Amino acid sequence: MPAAPVLLAVVSLRRESPLSVATVALITGIDGQDGYYLSRLLLKQGYEVHGFALRPEQSQLGEEVSLHPFDLRQPATLGDLFGKIQPDEVYHLAAQSHVARSYEHPLETAEITGLGALHMLEASRQWQLQRGRPVRFFQASSSAIFDDKAGPVLNEESPIHPRSPYACAKAYAHLQVRNYREAHGMFACNGILFNHESPLRDASFVTRKITRAAARIKLGLQQKLKLGNLDAERSWGFAGDFVEAMGLMLQQDEPDDYVISTTETHSVREFVETVFAYLDRDYRDHVEIDPELFRPHDAPVLRGDITRARTRLHWEPKVSFRQLAEMMIEHDLEQEA
Ligand code: NDP
Repeated sequence: MPAAPVLLAVVSLRRESPLSVATVALITGIDGQDGYYLSRLLLKQGYEVHGFALRPEQSQLGEEVSLHPFDLRQPATLGDLFGKIQPDEVYHLAAQSHVARSYEHPLETAEITGLGALHMLEASRQWQLQRGRPVRFFQASSSAIFDDKAGPVLNEESPIHPRSPYACAKAYAHLQVRNYREAHGMFACNGILFNHESPLRDASFVTRKITRAAARIKLGLQQKLKLGNLDAERSWGFAGDFVEAMGLMLQQDEPDDYVISTTETHSVREFVETVFAYLDRDYRDHVEIDPELFRPHDAPVLRGDITRARTRLHWEPKVSFRQLAEMMIEHDLEQEA
């Protein structure tokens, strides 16, 4: 995963001065998209950053981060790892995060995305008891847990009605976080994240599929791009903005759940149009509609109500839809050249 300057430029600092004694952060899923941005943010804020990774030997995160091999399906070593790392804050980002894969592998998804979060919560509670001081816990929850018919604008109190094995696993984790907060008094927060992208988004997600293919078309490496429903609308934010909200949640006096979202929605057509226009191309010359790529259940247009994040965290998304699309296409042009 290359640390291109464009990725770093938009990650701003929350605290200007370094911490006097380094706070120790443990990030699971550190090799994923959000793990990269969060680790850069926390390092800049003076944290000592540790990460769990499935394959640390393949990581390109650099030596400032201490990596530990860990698979959520094999939690037996968690107690030892907590004792060794001694975290003050735990950011649980690791998950089987693909909705389509969750239909093919529902048990694996439940084990990693659902039960995995419970293992991390319980290990954090045990570590808190052992050291006699609070541990702060962040869970990467998802807008997918909500009833998508309750929209179009969803907030922290919207009804939970997950509609995929992935969403069911995230809902289980979400409720366990609340339970640990209420039953054990833990400082545990759910960040209920709407879609967020970046140049590091996996190419199986539509935004990166588009920017990568558009870069290849521009460079003469391919001609056509097959897509499903161009009228599907989403709110797409920038991962660098979203990880700032994660950090802010753990700095509050009281733990709570927060919806994190942009305030706009855009269609896949607008995204593809923006990307191809940036390359001086007309998307209609290259995009083919493939009915097989239509989803059986395409979520209605949804976005989050970020009133709570705005008022308590003073958080706002900064990177616009156009800036995000351009950042991604510039990165893919570099990658594919
Ligand atoms: P990614 O899929 O990029 O990252 C997930 C990470 O989890 C990867 O590093 C992956 O490792 C790791 N992982 C997968 N399986 C295991 C396992 N068995 N044990 C340990 N680690 C594992 O996701 P994002 O960074 O985009 O998202 C971060 C979190 O936010 C995820 O929990 C996701 O579900 C959630 N979220 C994301 C949204 C988005 O729009 N990006 C929206 C809502 C929620 P590897 O890559 O090696 O497989």
